[in-house]
Amino acid sequence: MTVSVLTFGCRLNAYESAVMRSTAEAAGHDEETVIVNTCAVTEEAERQARQAIRRTARERPGAGIVVTGCAAAIEPARWARLPGVARVLDNRAKLAHESWGGAAALGAAPRLPDFGSRVRAFVPVQQGCDHRCTFCIIPYGRGPSVSRSIEDVVAEIRALVAAGFREAVLTGVDLTAYGADLAGRTRLGALVRRVLAAVPDLPRLRLSSLDPAEIDAELWRLIGEEERLMPHLHLSLQAGNDMILKRMKRRHSRAAALAVISRARALRPGIAIGADLIAGFPTETEAEFRDTLALVEESGMPFLHVFPFSARPGTPAARMPAVPWPLRRERAGRLRAAGRVNATRYLASFVGRTVSVLVESEASGRTEHYARATLSTAAPAGALFAARVEGCNGTALTAALL
Ligand code: SF4
Repeated sequence: MTVSVLTFGCRLNAYESAVMRSTAEAAGHDEETVIVNTCAVTEEAERQARQAIRRTARERPGAGIVVTGCAAAIEPARWARLPGVARVLDNRAKLAHESWGGAAALGAAPRLPDFGSRVRAFVPVQQGCDHRCTFCIIPYGRGPSVSRSIEDVVAEIRALVAAGFREAVLTGVDLTAYGADLAGRTRLGALVRRVLAAVPDLPRLRLSSLDPAEIDAELWRLIGEEERLMPHLHLSLQAGNDMILKRMKRRHSRAAALAVISRARALRPGIAIGADLIAGFPTETEAEFRDTLALVEESGMPFLHVFPFSARPGTPAARMPAVPWPLRRERAGRLRAAGRVNATRYLASFVGRTVSVLVESEASGRTEHYARATLSTAAPAGALFAARVEGCNGTALTAALL
């Protein structure tokens, strides 16, 4: 039996959970160890993790619960008091062999994280953040920005491809800050160029969330020229009104966000654009909210992650005059509805065209634009096929493998 891992939050947490499972099992842990990898981005994420811990303690009284992740790193004592919790580890300690009673096997090839499938692998290249957006608790849980060396990232991606993975997703807390702490202050664009050159048999390289104010010149060039760099940008926009962006301490304006979207489309026609947006940030008026809604409508962005504002204790935004919760939820609903209209229009534009599909389960996969595709014929997970788009239902395409 294997170690159980309950993961909340982002791709970085998903990756770290896969590493912790492999490391703990290599050190001899089994089903008696339950790892809960928490997230602190919203109150709801913390509530779900606490609920999971109480349920585990009730249903498996003998299990040793190890709690880690951002919420536990920020308030270790509080999480340590929950029933069944044997240990609390911060975000640095959770990946260390010693934390699991093992030791790094000197010279041995690093164990690949156990993602549960061999389709898409998350590859963290950067950790932590040096910014202080007023709503965000992450820097308090993850510390300053730290980048992995290019050689380290290339070695991991080579090993992933050798193990059968067809897509690598570069991820981090503040991905566009990659390299600022490395000798020569390299940038994300240089990393992408090196990975594509050093691992020619990697079919797909994808980027996770980007700060629109920090996309470097080389990355722009690669977005326009590199077929293996997926035509899909997810932007950390957060709002579409300049006063709210200022109060969030973001580094871009509404006009700059729209300019980034137009530039991406000019360089890579048909590119998929997604965005993170917060609805109901403190002090947000109806007029300011409508600017964000208009940004969604004008830009036609099809892939939105919308969050009603969640006050995080200890952040400046938690001390600002709040928008009532029902209004936050209502505004989030209006943004999501506008996003669905965009998604329906965007997906319909693929009907009759040929796309490439990375099969995730027998009858479904993702295109290079990250659109979900339902396949009319079964195919093995991990396979990469050309497919003809026969239709769409507003959230997914239907496609026939060629
Ligand atoms: S850039 Fe801002 S939102 Fe992103 S992790 Fe850093 S502080 Fe948080």
